[in-house]
Amino acid sequence: MKCRRCKALAAVALPSHNTAFCPECYPLFFSSQVERSMHRQHMAEPGERILVAVSGGKDSLALTLQLHELGYQVHCLHVDLSIPNSSEGARIICEKFCASLGVPLSVIALREYGLAIPLVKTRVKRPICSVCGKLKRYYFNKFALDHSFPVLATGHNLDDEVSRLFANTIRWDTSYLSNQGPALPAAAGFARKVKPLYRLTEFEIANYCFLKGIEHVTTACPYSSKASFPIYKGLWSDLEARMPGAKIQFYENFLRQGRPVFAAWAKQQEESLQPCPGCGYPTSTDLCGVCRIKAMMVE
Ligand code: SF4
Ligand SMILES: [Zn+2]
Ligand SMILES: [Zn+2]
Repeated sequence: MKCRRCKALAAVALPSHNTAFCPECYPLFFSSQVERSMHRQHMAEPGERILVAVSGGKDSLALTLQLHELGYQVHCLHVDLSIPNSSEGARIICEKFCASLGVPLSVIALREYGLAIPLVKTRVKRPICSVCGKLKRYYFNKFALDHSFPVLATGHNLDDEVSRLFANTIRWDTSYLSNQGPALPAAAGFARKVKPLYRLTEFEIANYCFLKGIEHVTTACPYSSKASFPIYKGLWSDLEARMPGAKIQFYENFLRQGRPVFAAWAKQQEESLQPCPGCGYPTSTDLCGVCRIKAMMVE
């Protein structure tokens, strides 16, 4: 197969785009996809300050490099989960990567808040991944607001988005279906959130990291077997292999046709959010989810 751009021998075949690229042209294709997503979804203004949530995984580091190369003022934030044999390595990778680009990095260590994930796991009787996700979202959002970043970017890719959409659809979770998307506007207590890699698959990002020589975390989190998304990802990989383009069609058609319907429905049902009495985070219940977790830690 030949490279679509320069006709040299192709190294990366992309059946969903019905095309292929050589190692020199593939990063250009990758950048064009990110730029297109940023532009289409009005994610950020040229040169704007962007807070990028980095885990040390391939997605968030590829995102950092892309936004940096596109000329945005990138500042990275890593949440250290304090998981033995996992978190320290992830933090070191983030530090090395940001230093190599000259991009500033801030680190929030959950253990400093009494919220180290292994400890939380012993106290909170809920799936640890949903609690961990809640804590990360909370601290990323808080940091963005506290430091006046106009936008918070995460490395969610097409596989993440499709699995989440599929999980929400299986449950017909209308509340989540009404606001899942690659760009969420700022609201009271919430920073603007964007996912510039939403059109790129894990395979495409892994190829980009390999060709760019990005060193990233390769070992799975010891708790990852408890997560349900890998099951959905496996199902969608099988479907994509039989029907190239199924993932992007499912997601893009949802954004165009499904989400507006759910969003209109949700507006009618709108629950009013109040600032949490413990920390000020918007919540529809008495205390916000993170303050409830903190309360369980001292019980
Ligand atoms: S696998 Fe679960 S516990 Fe581990 S980092 Fe991901 S969300 Fe957190
Ligand atoms: Zn080429
Ligand atoms: Zn709170």
